[in-house]
Amino acid sequence: MKEIIKKLSNDFALSIDETELLASALLQKPRFALYLQNECSPELERHLRLKFTLLKNGVPIEYLTKQVQFLNYRLKLYPGVFIPRLETEYFVELIRKLIKFKPLKICEIGTGCGAIAIALTESFPDAQIVATDICELAVQNARENILHFHLEERINLLRADFFSPFKSRIFDLIVCNPPYVPRERIKDLPKSVRDFEPRRAIDGGKGGTRFIKKLIDEATTYSRNHPNIALEIDEEQTDELSQILQNKNLPYFFAKDLFNKIRYLFIGEFNKCKVPSYL
Ligand code: SAM
Ligand code: GLN
Repeated sequence: MKEIIKKLSNDFALSIDETELLASALLQKPRFALYLQNECSPELERHLRLKFTLLKNGVPIEYLTKQVQFLNYRLKLYPGVFIPRLETEYFVELIRKLIKFKPLKICEIGTGCGAIAIALTESFPDAQIVATDICELAVQNARENILHFHLEERINLLRADFFSPFKSRIFDLIVCNPPYVPRERIKDLPKSVRDFEPRRAIDGGKGGTRFIKKLIDEATTYSRNHPNIALEIDEEQTDELSQILQNKNLPYFFAKDLFNKIRYLFIGEFNKCKVPSYL
């Protein structure tokens, strides 16, 4: 194995450390265990060389390892399903910190591999969660994760467009990380996102607010009085969204992510004073 690591490090212009770290992630074994394998099998070398080439061409590592760590959960990730971001881990933390009540019925629209819905079962142990996605591959991926963590009694998963299956359902809390990248900015995204992640998961139309506005409009129908909504958004959307929310007379505030960028919108019964100030 020492030989393979050395060759890969040379051929891909990586240090030995970097090569070991990548090989360890790709083979899903501890770094030291790479060297327990004494044989230099040509298949193993071919396998690693192919994966290193894909990585070099921008394929996200999560699509090669087919897994992603999200908060306390090691999730299965199908290539072609949106990769959960660290900003979204923090989003889940913020929801738990800021909400003023204990939600019992939660809806997550656009669940992808199920990350938010799964983590919310831990934040709100008494809640029932409905999670939807329009994409069949995402629904299959989320189903596998939900079953893996034995959460099928807690999360009801549906393939659906927005709220379409919920004629008269009422939710205490609606959570969504929508597609919100302004269409005109998609060309500026990193290649790994632009070329490999699903367009439908990130393309928010002109200005990026198409999905968000529809969700805010429809949420009232599925809420008791005023809706309680937690959303991820882009910082350039605050003016437009403020206008809409003021016109609707809804209480709201924006919050920043860990990189000091406005990234979240909380509408309804959330406590602005509890936004952590360690930035
Ligand atoms: N919740 C996941 C996360 O935070 O990692 C995935 C978020 S991804 C940004 C947006 C998701 O919304 C994608 O999985 C996409 O398939 C889904 N989506 C797009 N349009 C939708 C629609 N009309 N109804 C439901 N889901 C939709
Ligand atoms: N912030 C995401 C990105 O890095 C996009 C997320 C989204 O549209 N929900 O690509």
